[in-house]
Amino acid sequence: MTPKEMLAKLVSFNTESQRSNLDLIHFCRDYLASLGVESRLAPSPDGQKANLYATIGPRRDGGIVLSGHTDVVPVAGQDWTSDPWTLTERDGKLYGRGACDMKGFDALALALVPEMLAAPLERPIHIALSYDEEVGCLGARVMIASMQQEGLKPSAVIVGEPSMMKVVTGHKGGLRMRTAIRGHAVHSSRIDVGVSAVMVAGELIHWHNTTMAENKARTPAGNGFEPPYSTLHVGVVQGGTAVNIAAEHCTFAHEVRCIPGELQEAYAERYRAKLAEVEAGMKAVAPETGIALEITSSTPAMGPETDGAAEALCRRLTGDNGRHVVAYGTEGGLFQGAGWSTVVCGPGDIAQAHQPDEFIAVEQLEAGERFVRGLIADLSR
Ligand SMILES: [Zn+2]
Repeated sequence: MTPKEMLAKLVSFNTESQRSNLDLIHFCRDYLASLGVESRLAPSPDGQKANLYATIGPRRDGGIVLSGHTDVVPVAGQDWTSDPWTLTERDGKLYGRGACDMKGFDALALALVPEMLAAPLERPIHIALSYDEEVGCLGARVMIASMQQEGLKPSAVIVGEPSMMKVVTGHKGGLRMRTAIRGHAVHSSRIDVGVSAVMVAGELIHWHNTTMAENKARTPAGNGFEPPYSTLHVGVVQGGTAVNIAAEHCTFAHEVRCIPGELQEAYAERYRAKLAEVEAGMKAVAPETGIALEITSSTPAMGPETDGAAEALCRRLTGDNGRHVVAYGTEGGLFQGAGWSTVVCGPGDIAQAHQPDEFIAVEQLEAGERFVRGLIADLSR
């Protein structure tokens, strides 16, 4: 199968994150088995989804992980010119949901397995395909734990998210949260004996502003990020029923985007401390009031490494010596957290990801093919 044929096959599976990816995973497992390559599946807790990883070449330390996710974002509400689940070529572009983000890279890794086997490789290539990247990098955590348990010790990880084959060494981490406040409803004329959930939310939202202002003041520029500091944001607020009633309920959805070196857990801890202080004041007025915090996702940042093996390898293969950090999150921080040198480098432009009429340029897929061929040559001597 050519990379284009493989991409058409992978796109034909509807693997929106809310659906099972098992049909696609079983296809990959059977395809690899037909080439004599054994796969390991690392299932999700409910068994509806699975990661797949497979080793090509000798079973020894070192070698490379080619990492891709199998899930895609939904097409609902988007206006597509052609069927999103049928790869369609028009004017040098291959259209389909996931063509760019990131079944293109998955297809390259799979389609070139016969060449990896024929090389033959001196050091292994591990293909690692995850589930649920788009909804908080859930699958990669399970897969990395399984790979570590098996004792795999790759010398570098290449996360093939679309970067136009540039070598990306950093991105911010992400912490998403939801705060639900229960107040004590009274007529607003007697707010002295009530607790307005909306007004409590206001105080907590303000904490986001002051924390971000502190970050801005103390973080030096020049780390490549725009803006260079960790940002906080509240995106949705819901609460209250009338202007003259102290609101009983208010909820809001919020996030922190952390620069490398800052931990999202630390922000969660600081926020919890603020909640405890505010909650104590609420309970002093009415004991049934309270605040509940839900962490909806937490994905670590990926930071530039000192003398990183993955960076050196990808710079050698692509000739890219520029400095690139990106605004989107990836599974890279999780691989790095496992102690494995990691960069993001893959075909396609992130501008096309998640869009209606998502596409990957044929020329990008070909650039990715040359890159993987170069990698095979590199690992064969
Ligand atoms: Zn992606």
